[in-house]
Amino acid sequence: MGIRRTGAEYNDMRHIPIAKPSIGTEEIEAVTRVLETGQLAQGETVYQFEQEFSEHFGYTGSAAVANGTAALHVALLAAGVKPGDKVLTTPFTFVATSNAILYCNAVPVFVDVDEASFNISPEAIRKAANDYPEARYLLLVHLFGQSCEMDKIAEIAKEFNLTIIEDCAQAHGATYQSKPVGTFGCGGTFSFYPTKNMSTGEGGMIVSQDTQFLETSKLLINHGSKQRYVHEVLGYNYRMTNISAAIGIEQLKKIDRMNSARRKNAEYYFSNIYNSLVTLPFVHEYSHHVFHQFTITTTHRDQLVSYLSEKGIGTGIHYQLPVHKQMHIKEYLASVKHKQYSCPTAEKLSEQVLSIPVNPELSMEDLEYVVQTINNFSV
Ligand SMILES: *Cc1c(COP(=O)(O)O)cnc(C)c1O
Repeated sequence: MGIRRTGAEYNDMRHIPIAKPSIGTEEIEAVTRVLETGQLAQGETVYQFEQEFSEHFGYTGSAAVANGTAALHVALLAAGVKPGDKVLTTPFTFVATSNAILYCNAVPVFVDVDEASFNISPEAIRKAANDYPEARYLLLVHLFGQSCEMDKIAEIAKEFNLTIIEDCAQAHGATYQSKPVGTFGCGGTFSFYPTKNMSTGEGGMIVSQDTQFLETSKLLINHGSKQRYVHEVLGYNYRMTNISAAIGIEQLKKIDRMNSARRKNAEYYFSNIYNSLVTLPFVHEYSHHVFHQFTITTTHRDQLVSYLSEKGIGTGIHYQLPVHKQMHIKEYLASVKHKQYSCPTAEKLSEQVLSIPVNPELSMEDLEYVVQTINNFSV
């Protein structure tokens, strides 16, 4: 029969998604085993996942949560954030980071980012800490899989007595000067949403070196209760299920391989993408980058997005509106009479960034095709 297709037609059928979770028979069988036990909600499987997560990445302890946003909310409360407290943070992130500050009725003070790394700028933190001497907290995001500049930031935090909380939702396995993200402050949080470097469907984790911090977190996750029907504080139902944890335990066995695949894909792009219309991401010499996203910048973004989409290459814009420009954040800041600085670098980046596929499921053929297509882009 043999339907012959021209090269162009073949390319029309191609679709390379920006994100693809790596789920195999191991995860399917692990979930089935949990279903067969009938212990579906939080139980032994969750405790096993917490322990293995700590051991794998080198954390003192972990507390599993329903999702990464809940992890942030609990971590801020465990760090002591109270209504009205000012929390220095980045505007160039997923909105969940700042929403968690709002859940605490605290006030996000947005600090501009570094143009090259997309991460919060140490110099801008210093300026904000001077302008807001009453601020006690700094909520960092290790964006796109790359750690913030933790040597400089730790120094500033010490000088201004800022407690650091780290949003590591995009940085499972990332390190700075060989130290894992999530160990630079009082606690760190992870997300296991399907687009992240490892997934449990929905899920999250809080890590800390401080056993008191973890104990408070576990209390808040489970309605303030250690003993059934005895409630010590106002808590939440933020528990992870055994079903999710079973997936997480299998993903942990693969995370190093998945991160190496992301790093190899990025390496291939660095060696082979040559187009003066796009700028490739910057990698800090002290950072072990796990490439949650491979984010380029271009002043021709609209044209590039539609060109790549025509060629079957999925892209993502992370993020097209910086958080301090989001409607509910502007309204909230107005309601608490906080005047926000402008963050010109975040605003400029939001017009120029474009993430291209770097997920571990890409084949060599996919990578060659992405490179060739981007190299052929012109305006
Ligand atoms: C995904 C993400 C979150 C939220 O995690 P969920 O599991 O989706 O709630 C928080 N912060 C950042 C930076 C994220 O990328």
